[in-house]
Amino acid sequence: MKKIITILLAAVLVLGFVGCAKKDSTTTTAATTEKAQNTGVNIVCTIFPQYDFMKAITKNVDGVNVKMLLAPGDESHSYSATLEDIAAIDSADLFIYVGGESDEWVEEVLKTASPKKTIALTELVKTLEESDEGILVEEEEKEEEEGAADEHVWTSLENTCEIIHALSQAMSEIDGKNADVYDANANAYIKEFNNLDAKFVSLFAGIKNKTIVIADRNPFRYFCEEYGIKAIAAFAGCSSNNEIPLAVQNELIKAVKENGLKYVYVIELNTSSYGDSIAQQAGAQKAVLNSCHNLSKEDFESGKTFLEMMTENYQTLSETMA
Ligand SMILES: [Zn+2]
Repeated sequence: MKKIITILLAAVLVLGFVGCAKKDSTTTTAATTEKAQNTGVNIVCTIFPQYDFMKAITKNVDGVNVKMLLAPGDESHSYSATLEDIAAIDSADLFIYVGGESDEWVEEVLKTASPKKTIALTELVKTLEESDEGILVEEEEKEEEEGAADEHVWTSLENTCEIIHALSQAMSEIDGKNADVYDANANAYIKEFNNLDAKFVSLFAGIKNKTIVIADRNPFRYFCEEYGIKAIAAFAGCSSNNEIPLAVQNELIKAVKENGLKYVYVIELNTSSYGDSIAQQAGAQKAVLNSCHNLSKEDFESGKTFLEMMTENYQTLSETMA
């Protein structure tokens, strides 16, 4: 299987090369227009958080192209790169992935594809080990991943700020003439996250029982750690499991009742009926939290931001936990 992938990679790299050569000749013909003088910077991102950060950092700079590989609305944990995606990675000036369990395919692709610069989000911040705490469905094949880092680093707003800062520095190295713009954009976005972080801090300071029950995966480990929230969830953050066994459904219902909670949470783009049925049986209601791996096609097209999604989490939690 690996051999096949390598051959396909080699094929696509050749094709990619032909594609670039063609593009160059069209650029030469159009060289009289002002835009054509712009060399262009191609940024390729695997999933939404880094796509959003790069859009914000490069705002108002001409000739920067930010691409997200994951199709809007798709489940990020079952993503697999197409040949076109691999060609895009290969010709990227900057390729940004998360690093971790879901990105094992990246290591394989990077053996053949060679973007000019590569950044893994998990290398930019202090990571937490994956943990089974509060996770009710035991995963199979867990042993070999013992001690692996939890990859959902972006769910902590402190991390978000660090990541945005590091990404803007990388952008300034790639395109020094616009360094001031990248710096100003990054600082403005970081300021928004700092404000939101302060709101979360004061919200949670006023809540005695900071327990939440998630009838879904829990990718919020960093978020919970930052604000002292105790989460009880069906599955681990990157689980591909989506069947909640009856015994676990009952445990979740019990947890809602015992903690006197009014809400049960699911994460965005969840299409199962577990959230509704567990909420109903526990005499509670269902609410949605954004993990920000991805967003719907409509939201993507309308330009919804990571900041807006996190602000929605603030509104949801302030209405459902207080
Ligand atoms: Zn994940």
